[in-house]
Amino acid sequence: MNSKTGVLHVVATPIGNLGDLSSRARETLQQADLVLAEDTRRTGVLMRHFNLGTPLSSFHDHNERQQVPEVLRRLSAGENIALVSDAGTPLISDPGYTLVSAAREQGFTVSPVPGPCALVAALSASGLPVDRFVFEGFVPARKGARQALLDRVAVEERTVVLYESSHRILETLEDMSSVLGPDRAVVIGREISKRFETFYRGDAVDVLEQLRAGTEHQYGEFVVMVEGAPAQDADEAMLRKLLQLLLDELPVKTASRIAAAWSGAGRNRVYALALDLGKNNDPDSE
Ligand code: SAM
Repeated sequence: MNSKTGVLHVVATPIGNLGDLSSRARETLQQADLVLAEDTRRTGVLMRHFNLGTPLSSFHDHNERQQVPEVLRRLSAGENIALVSDAGTPLISDPGYTLVSAAREQGFTVSPVPGPCALVAALSASGLPVDRFVFEGFVPARKGARQALLDRVAVEERTVVLYESSHRILETLEDMSSVLGPDRAVVIGREISKRFETFYRGDAVDVLEQLRAGTEHQYGEFVVMVEGAPAQDADEAMLRKLLQLLLDELPVKTASRIAAAWSGAGRNRVYALALDLGKNNDPDSE
């Protein structure tokens, strides 16, 4: 690429409080030749608030692929382009991945303008361990995918962070209440940086009750965080899950041998666990 090519700036915007737009983000939006916005009306409000007159172009999940060649053409013509989403950091459960990966692949400079991100803001004030965490994005709406996610959360040793909408927040907490014990802390950050910002904390059942206490608690945007499982519990839960799957297909001895080899747990312990799972009606049928 020659030095005349433009730069793609990935610009974080506020998740509620407009005061959180950084001065560098403002400058970048002002100086760009074009701002790619998920929703031009929403970004238009932000632009007007800060007196920014840069042209906006619509860039969302449904037109991202078609738009990429034109954006790359404009970058090679030397234009500087800013990518924003409706709120927070682009690409984080938001559009932009196809463009950023294509721009990088073609050798363009892609530069982030860091700023608000709901998951980071929520974690920072949660009181949960944040030395290691896993972000799973939105809780899936489909039952099977949802159950698979909750199975992973049940055995995850790191703090888990999820996005959830107001339509399904109660359902998600109900599902969590049936898989997570009282020893797993759940923290919810609602409407972060907005007027009704609230953090709810307890086990899944407590938090569900707090949200059920009044419909006002069920409105807005939510980040759900779950404390990681203690290492030993996570190992045990994972082993049980694997054994259960194997026992559905194989005799107890074979299932135990595979589970022991995979997990590194002692064979006798695994065999006892398999019997405990109540699948010991055909132990010698290998
Ligand atoms: N790109 C954004 C970011 O950096 O966080 C996330 C976009 S995603 C489409 C929107 C989801 O983020 C919401 O459904 C909610 O789960 C979470 N979220 C966004 N703003 C929030 C806020 N102010 N308080 C709590 N959660 C928020």
